[in-house]
Amino acid sequence: MNKAKMYLGSEEKSTPNVIEVKNPFNSNIVSTYPACGVDDVEMAYLKAKSASKETKKSPLHQRVSWLEDVADKLEEQSEKFAKLICDEVGKPMVFARGEVTRCIETIRLSAHTMISIGGESFDTTAMPSGKKTLAFFKRVPVGVALAITPFNFPLNLVAHKIAPALVSGNAVVLKPSSAAPLCAYSLAKLFIQSPYAIKDALSVVYSGEGVNDALVTSKIPRVISFTGSVPVGNSIIKKAGIKRIALELGGNAATFIDKSANLKDAAKKCAVGAFVNSGQVCISLQRIYVHVEVYDEFSKLLAEQSSKLVTGNPYDDKTFIGPMINEDAIDKAKIWIANAKQEGAKVLFGGTNKGLVLEPTIMVDVKEDMNIVCQEVFAPIVSLIAKDNYEEAKQSMNDSLFGLQYSIFTNDLAMTTDAIDELEAGGVVINDIPTLRFDIQPYGGFKHSGIGKEGPKFAIEDDYTEVKSVVICS
Ligand code: NAP
Repeated sequence: MNKAKMYLGSEEKSTPNVIEVKNPFNSNIVSTYPACGVDDVEMAYLKAKSASKETKKSPLHQRVSWLEDVADKLEEQSEKFAKLICDEVGKPMVFARGEVTRCIETIRLSAHTMISIGGESFDTTAMPSGKKTLAFFKRVPVGVALAITPFNFPLNLVAHKIAPALVSGNAVVLKPSSAAPLCAYSLAKLFIQSPYAIKDALSVVYSGEGVNDALVTSKIPRVISFTGSVPVGNSIIKKAGIKRIALELGGNAATFIDKSANLKDAAKKCAVGAFVNSGQVCISLQRIYVHVEVYDEFSKLLAEQSSKLVTGNPYDDKTFIGPMINEDAIDKAKIWIANAKQEGAKVLFGGTNKGLVLEPTIMVDVKEDMNIVCQEVFAPIVSLIAKDNYEEAKQSMNDSLFGLQYSIFTNDLAMTTDAIDELEAGGVVINDIPTLRFDIQPYGGFKHSGIGKEGPKFAIEDDYTEVKSVVICS
């Protein structure tokens, strides 16, 4: 069994009081983490504050080499890291491997992006009141960043915060999900043990009494980058005070299947979008609006595709759907299915579970105010809803508290351009699932789905650097 340790700056610290993490599929204890306290948070912040003076002055080539070195090491140990993800959160190995690959790419992208981030000069004689000067702006690091990450992508979402933050010259305090401490610790260790590392630039603390409030209310971090649920995001924004706050929150992603679409292709993609990672993806496909003329045919195709998905043991390479993260998560999913059935919905496919593994579940005859439709379900449950036309589907998609990503499947150009302009979401995908994300793209939601964008370039510009304006007069 593996023990995650605290990093207070570059120094490891253990405590006798450890918390066990169990694999969600077989309940084996796979890791432990030390319960942290407010003192640990304060120490991590003090070290980060002092280190930020060094990170700011460090040459960019060193920070780029640092990230490249971590990416190389991660590549060498990719199977070990995939197994860690599978151990801690039960993600099927095939997708855990995919997450490690993406994590390597995120780190490399962050390094490459920073090389081309710069400032701009401007002409101060543009206004009659101006005069000739040398004027420009440059980007400077914010200092200390707090990064808080969720369980569902326990490696790549850590990388999406610490890689852009460190390469742009900051120090970081990381607080990972309690469900996956070892994934975060093992990645942090690669950063901290790299020959290019800057001492004390990265700390890792875990949950414990008073830790969340101490992290969020401290005056030391200039930025909080949070990925997680809406209620926690809400609590952070209320407590944080004057800081930059980036919130990557939940969603209830939707798509529209037009009658002009390639139905077979759409059904195949939608089965992936709705059920990958047991629906525990912020852009998991939860609502499928289907043109009424192709509803029956599409429903049949989707059920057919879903029946091909192998469920069960996440360590088996053939498994597509593994366990949900814990009892609470599956209980919530089952209650929401039962409530929907009581109100008239029907299960077209799936609906039952073995342990924490819930079958891919397709619901029909739903109403749009049911929890499985209008809230974030975060489980392998998708609802099929017939619509007379695209306009009606668009109205339903937009009638949501969330706005992370939407998609449409169509061969109609006018519909495509309308969707790009009118769908109220941070991302719109045409002819694929809303679950599609490339790590290079700006990623983040409208409405309750959050504030700000992740993706190395956008995180560096919006979160981890500030614009400093300079005027030189002769
Ligand atoms: P969560 O319960 O909100 O937890 C996220 C992180 O916040 C964890 O590290 C958690 O620590 C910490 N936390 C809990 N309470 C806190 C508080 N009061 N103050 C500060 N931090 C606190 O979310 P989750 O269940 O791990 O992840 C699922 C959610 O994340 C879903 O809603 C999903 O949509 C969202 N998500 C969004 C994106 C995106 O990019 N938009 C990506 C992935 C996931 P503990 O683990 O110790 O409780």
